[in-house]
Amino acid sequence: MCRDKERMGEESNVVEFPQEKDDNWKRFLRLGIKQYYAQSQVLKSLDHSHIKDTADRLISVLEFNISGCWEDPTEPLLKDFAPGNYDEMIHERDIKIITTCAHHAERIVGKAHFSYIPRSKIVGLSKIPRMVDILCRRPQIQENLTEQIVDTFQKTVDPYGCGVHVRAYHFCMIARGIQEPMVVTETTAMRGSFKDGLTRQEFLSSLDHTGIVFP
Ligand SMILES: [Zn+2]
Repeated sequence: MCRDKERMGEESNVVEFPQEKDDNWKRFLRLGIKQYYAQSQVLKSLDHSHIKDTADRLISVLEFNISGCWEDPTEPLLKDFAPGNYDEMIHERDIKIITTCAHHAERIVGKAHFSYIPRSKIVGLSKIPRMVDILCRRPQIQENLTEQIVDTFQKTVDPYGCGVHVRAYHFCMIARGIQEPMVVTETTAMRGSFKDGLTRQEFLSSLDHTGIVFP
């Protein structure tokens, strides 16, 4: 059964930006990480030189992982071109997905397949991965990320329709919890004409469900 639903009147998945930035968390996190190492057995087995700067390194990692919260994902899409006579589906396969699970702060890695049918403009080929990258540098769950990609593109570029398919590994399933390394999570979202029968079928039949997930 079709999972897509009419979104008339529903809230957009495009996240508002910019949000207020508060750097206080770094001070508290640095203290917390230092306490963690101070109370850990790791101090007895590791040369202190390996961990003396780890609090600052970890803060840098986390800061990078949320840096997209203060960037506008529509910005890369604002420079566009006339499509000429091209009126068929455009596919971009194997767009890198590296994002952070909002629940566990573990990595989600995979690929996205994005497609659209231009109405009055096309965008540069590098602009779609740039838009995806900004959304990925935010705490995410895969379902929301998938919908945000098509909502951001549809709202900004106004194609006849667009669709995205994301396949990913979740390290919160691989490295903790269930410790299940082989599960691939697949999500799909479509907007505009991609919800209609033949276009929907053309998009769905172009997807790869068996290839390498990452890189
Ligand atoms: Zn998780």
